[in-house]
Amino acid sequence: MTKTQIYKFGGASVKDAAAVKNLAKILRNRLRNNFVIVVSAMGKTTNHLETILSLKLKDQDYSVNSTILKAFHLDICKELFPAEHVIFPKIENYFILLHHELNNPISKDNYDEYYDRIIGFGELLSSRIVMEYLCFQDLLVLWQDARELICTDSDFRFAKVDWEKTRRNCQTQLKPKLEQFPVLTQGFIGSDPKGRPTTLGREGSDFTAAILAASLDAASVTIWKDVPGVLNADPKIFSDTVLFSELDYQQAAEMTFYGASVIHPKTIKPLANAGIPLFVKSFINPEEAGTKIHNLSKAGAAQTIVVKKDQILVSFKVTDFAFIEEKHIHLIYEQLQRLKLRVNMLQTSAITISIVIDSQLFKLEQLLAELKNDFEIRYNEGLELLTVLHADPAALAKLISDYEVLLEQSTRNTTQIVRRLK
Ligand code: ASP
Ligand code: MG
Repeated sequence: MTKTQIYKFGGASVKDAAAVKNLAKILRNRLRNNFVIVVSAMGKTTNHLETILSLKLKDQDYSVNSTILKAFHLDICKELFPAEHVIFPKIENYFILLHHELNNPISKDNYDEYYDRIIGFGELLSSRIVMEYLCFQDLLVLWQDARELICTDSDFRFAKVDWEKTRRNCQTQLKPKLEQFPVLTQGFIGSDPKGRPTTLGREGSDFTAAILAASLDAASVTIWKDVPGVLNADPKIFSDTVLFSELDYQQAAEMTFYGASVIHPKTIKPLANAGIPLFVKSFINPEEAGTKIHNLSKAGAAQTIVVKKDQILVSFKVTDFAFIEEKHIHLIYEQLQRLKLRVNMLQTSAITISIVIDSQLFKLEQLLAELKNDFEIRYNEGLELLTVLHADPAALAKLISDYEVLLEQSTRNTTQIVRRLK
């Protein structure tokens, strides 16, 4: 039996009817048995669902938002299907279910679990529409609920995978189906040991593709994107980007660690461990080779730029003329861990510890409240964290010419700068 191939289509590749038609065209000559297709929610659906959740949390009316979201999906379907197609009542059903869930009470305390029950509707809708469209185009695929495959713990919104159980599910439930038909499923979602919906973190569909690949001993994973492959900088921010034809797993992992959004950071590890190559290709030019990420004996040293937006710089100053000691760092890290906040950059001086973190709902205020008795705390919001690998000094100077630099740190291959527009 041939080995499984996995294709992952993100939100941009299913953002409207033309995109779904394009997806079908890509699959037309490539689809065979032993194929898994992973799809994300359509366009910005997940963000819209997050808005609905935040309105619900504030006890405000979200009916307009939900009507718009439903119309968005129905409009796509009107372009793809005849009026009597079964997809229309199915979408109505999903929205009835969504509203049913949204009728439950929400609070800051149950927010994460509540979030996971709601947010996956984007993937359920999208996978249903794409599956029906492929079948309508005579490309027969089976629909699979990813929550029946991907087992996680109960860490809602950031669930950790139970690899053993997931592998067992893939081998016993998914494999036999794959021998008959290609299977289409959702990224991002899973379920905990009690069967409650969980999610793997925003943009987690790439990770789902990697989990399924590792659990099925797949031949390869291909992520279809609106860029030609992995570039040395974000083309939405920089004009003169260079495409990597291949990248070492390590290099790719490092880029994602610093915030390159082309691939979800957790995607590389399971593939590298299993030696499964990852292709990043353009759904606009599917014939082009894109980038192959695999085991390279010699990694390149091209300058690579990663920009992380919405960063907060927090400085903790020890009071009463003491100096920074290990116990201070420990105190801060304990709280960061509790709040699930990752430090993107750390710098210590004699009397202050500075950290750079992502801006996240409620998190900063909680951090400040916990530590205000131990430190004098200052913070700046709305910053950018720039990471440059293998920096070229002239290019680096240009990168900060219009900016105020708040913090800077360099090692042999990596320069990090916290900047703010002047
Ligand atoms: N739809 C989810 C998100 O936007 C997962 C994904 O796109 O990978 O975060
Ligand atoms: Mg998405």
